Amino acid sequence: MSLYRTDAVVLGHRNIGEADRILTLFSPEKGKIHAVARGVRRLNNRLLGGTQLFTFSNFLIVESKTLDSISQCEVKESFHKIRSNLERMAYGLYFAEMLRASTPEEDKNYSLFNFFLKTLYFLQEWNDLEVLSRIYEVKLMAIQGFTPEVFRCVNCGNKLSEKIRFSSNLGGVICFRCLKHDVRAVDIDYETVKVMRDFIKKPYRELIHMDLREEIKRQLKNTSQPFMLHHLDKKLKTMGFINDINGLKASAGPTGGD
Ligand SMILES: [Zn+2]
Repeated sequence: MSLYRTDAVVLGHRNIGEADRILTLFSPEKGKIHAVARGVRRLNNRLLGGTQLFTFSNFLIVESKTLDSISQCEVKESFHKIRSNLERMAYGLYFAEMLRASTPEEDKNYSLFNFFLKTLYFLQEWNDLEVLSRIYEVKLMAIQGFTPEVFRCVNCGNKLSEKIRFSSNLGGVICFRCLKHDVRAVDIDYETVKVMRDFIKKPYRELIHMDLREEIKRQLKNTSQPFMLHHLDKKLKTMGFINDINGLKASAGPTGGD
């Protein structure tokens, strides 16, 4: 029996047996790991606080050939503001699912871990969560090695002019001469392309007060989300959850919010 200690964020969990829970953790040293928290669903269990969804904790883990188990945990940041708000929670689940889908098991990646942790801090405060999602999609793909080409034509390398489209298949913006290379490419304005450049280059703190027109937001959603899904090559279950919540908000009128 060997023990190891690691910092990690709880990306997901599912209940098993009478009182146990299997956690998916994301750690800077070990990447994505699975471990069981035994008895955690019993009242006042000492593991409960540190194993809540999105909590950032330091874990002491017992290694096993079958399934590792959590021996101790100590909360470093609870992120309770995410869990206490249904909308923030839904987006957090979306971010976690995208991370899980784009990361192999036990693959250490310090910059990806720091990026995800930073995203959770901003998720607690961010006003327009749809915009945060677009930034997260673009930044996550960039860290995973799939930066969308938004600086020149992804097909011929030419400088971009006003007449352009975005191709998820080709991986970025195409110029008017290259339109025939992807008939499914979607319209995008040069202004939206510049916003995407900012998403790639600037940190969250410089983007948090960005005020975007509805049309730009619509174009971002039509480009960055399909681009991400094309690279993941998977369906994300949490997207439906977010659409449901946005549908409820829309029907509740403009006063909805937290
Ligand atoms: Zn071109």
